[in-house]
Amino acid sequence: KENILEVKNLKTYYPIKGGFFRRTVGHVKAVDDISFNIKKGETFGLVGESGCGKSTAGRTLLRLLKPTDGEIIFDGENITNLVGNKLRKKRQDFQMVFQDPYASLNPMQNVGEIVAEPIRNYHKGKSKKEIEEEVRNLLNRVGLPQDAYDKYAHEFSGGQRQRIGIARALALNPKFIIADEPVSALDVSVQSQVLNLLMDLQDDFDLTYLFIAHDLSVVKHMSDRIGVMYLGNLVELADNESIYNEPLHPYTQALISAIPHPDPKMKKERIVLEGDVPSPSNPPSGCPFHTRCPMAKEECSEIRPTLKEVKTGHHVACILYDEDVN
Ligand code: SF4
Ligand code: MG
Repeated sequence: KENILEVKNLKTYYPIKGGFFRRTVGHVKAVDDISFNIKKGETFGLVGESGCGKSTAGRTLLRLLKPTDGEIIFDGENITNLVGNKLRKKRQDFQMVFQDPYASLNPMQNVGEIVAEPIRNYHKGKSKKEIEEEVRNLLNRVGLPQDAYDKYAHEFSGGQRQRIGIARALALNPKFIIADEPVSALDVSVQSQVLNLLMDLQDDFDLTYLFIAHDLSVVKHMSDRIGVMYLGNLVELADNESIYNEPLHPYTQALISAIPHPDPKMKKERIVLEGDVPSPSNPPSGCPFHTRCPMAKEECSEIRPTLKEVKTGHHVACILYDEDVN
């Protein structure tokens, strides 16, 4: 299958200002050189603990943030440095569904206006009636009642608010949607409803998803392939099955070991990581995981492993699997 997105050596650093003159005294290396592709029609899960850079990566890919370095190719076009009208035009094709649907919905607009706004902005020629019809169809499609149209976001439950956010994201008929922790603010009972809705919509609207989550069990439910991030780095990338059944990176192994297994007899011993995640403003030398890695060797503090394909489709950044090092 064709790629819809190609990410090459992407870096997003935030400057740290300090001192009397507010000079740049350092950088938070939120995303520190990641490369991967997303295929048309697939769901790519991006997982990692909070602060690992997954949200920053998502925002950079949609060009809500400016990358520090690297390349983003979307649907065959290099969008790394797009600005102004060209970027605005491209924005129709990629949308974001946010974690907190309430904060991202304007409390002064009714639901009809919230969902209509992107259509009005991008399709100036459409009549009021046309737009209303489109919006009503969208609300229906995401499972909201017809009377939702005239109500305000605060009148809805969290799950329904997320449906409003999804309807709005779909309004311009995008090709690619980044969902950043779209269910982590919702009750567990509602989570699977929203996830199922997203999966249904994927088929109907021909969507490609980048699904960002800290919770591996949520990503498992959704993803074709999964990328695992640690401290701004992509440490493992493989299809869903391989990540769960034969994780290679010691960090992924620890994450997987923390998921409760439905069959207690099958449960492997939990790997508990020592220490805290180091600061992305001062990441460790060598392998970013070496300060916490149960398998670390002496050279791990010197050699920075790169993501390499060690089996078909299974990539890992760890010297244990790197024949050039061993
Ligand atoms: Fe652990 Fe070394 Fe592999 Fe890093 S390179 S994950 S420290 S074994
Ligand atoms: Mg986040």
